[in-house]
Amino acid sequence: MATVYFSSARTLRWNYLHSVPGKLEALLEKLDLAKRFAKDDWVAVKTHWGSPGAFRIIPAAMLRKVVDAVGKTGAKPFVTDTVRIKGLDYLEVANQNGLNHLSCGAPLVLADGLYGKDSILVKAGPLLGAIAVASVIHDAPAMIVCSHTKGHINSGYAGAIKNLAMGCVSGRHRDHGWQKGRGSMHCHGEKGLQWDPEVCTFCGQCAEICPLDSIEFKDGRFAYDADTCWHCGRCSRVCQEGALTLPQDDETFMKTMAESAAAVLSTFRPGKVVYVNFLFQIQPECDCMPVADVPVIQDQGIMVSDDLVAIEQASVDMLRKASPLPQSAAADAKVPPGNDILSSLNPRPLQLQIDACERLGLGSKQYELITIEP
Ligand code: SF4
Ligand code: SF4
Repeated sequence: MATVYFSSARTLRWNYLHSVPGKLEALLEKLDLAKRFAKDDWVAVKTHWGSPGAFRIIPAAMLRKVVDAVGKTGAKPFVTDTVRIKGLDYLEVANQNGLNHLSCGAPLVLADGLYGKDSILVKAGPLLGAIAVASVIHDAPAMIVCSHTKGHINSGYAGAIKNLAMGCVSGRHRDHGWQKGRGSMHCHGEKGLQWDPEVCTFCGQCAEICPLDSIEFKDGRFAYDADTCWHCGRCSRVCQEGALTLPQDDETFMKTMAESAAAVLSTFRPGKVVYVNFLFQIQPECDCMPVADVPVIQDQGIMVSDDLVAIEQASVDMLRKASPLPQSAAADAKVPPGNDILSSLNPRPLQLQIDACERLGLGSKQYELITIEP
């Protein structure tokens, strides 16, 4: 049985040890980082930097605690993410969202380079065949996967599995294009982006959100460059009319994410990757989106574990039991308390991603949740 350590977001006493950063320090001690990392190892602190407008990410105050905990072992941490929009712009987004060398205490590094295609093909399962793992993550000897748990329009729930599967993979491989990048999961075996002129209102939102300028409206006509497109799905998510779709089979999507997560983990020696899940600011959508709605579930706390499957199952179990926050999308949808809010808002078979990871031997759904409070 795997162990997951948890501390609540509640603070009941006026003492630093009872603060959330103080509790995070205590949780990180449970991971025995000094035994996992060698002196001078470069350790990736993988997190999502957000997007312009999606600011509800893991804040620098928390990442700083993770960085400091790595630093105490003699290893050298860096904070990293793969390119989601043009690389220089993405660094600026991180800065605007409060993440930089000064605030985090370690440099911010684009894991797949300024152009988002510095990646290495790694053997994956039968659905993907191979996947483009960001070169910095591929070469790093160790990693702390810091995941903001939330809902997601495609995966229902996004936590550590998605942070590995999508977040550690390039949008595009230098030689193999999007077919070996994140898009190979978003539309596996499908035709790619579909546009329906009958329902399009030509509002232009899809072109505005595209990070690669792959969509243009010329003389009232839709122009789409399939070669530059990463098949990331951002455009189809913002289309309110259903005119733009990225066809996807949910079950296949979850299985491909598990294959990708396994491929990323295969680049590390056993015991070199640990997980910190922040059950905070639990909003309905991905941190890639152009906005972050108000949280639908109250802050729960932080979990740490060295078992991917266990921490994800424990996180989902906790979120499933939660009550909807007033004045949120969950309240608008009248989701009853304890009725799996994330699945109600984004009806996807979210459990499948965890089940598939367990089948691939990435951890155990059987966990013991140990609560650590000062
Ligand atoms: S967002 Fe949808 S409706 Fe608006 S222009 Fe794009 S495809 Fe058409
Ligand atoms: S899927 Fe849409 S938003 Fe993403 S790169 Fe392609 S055209 Fe742009």
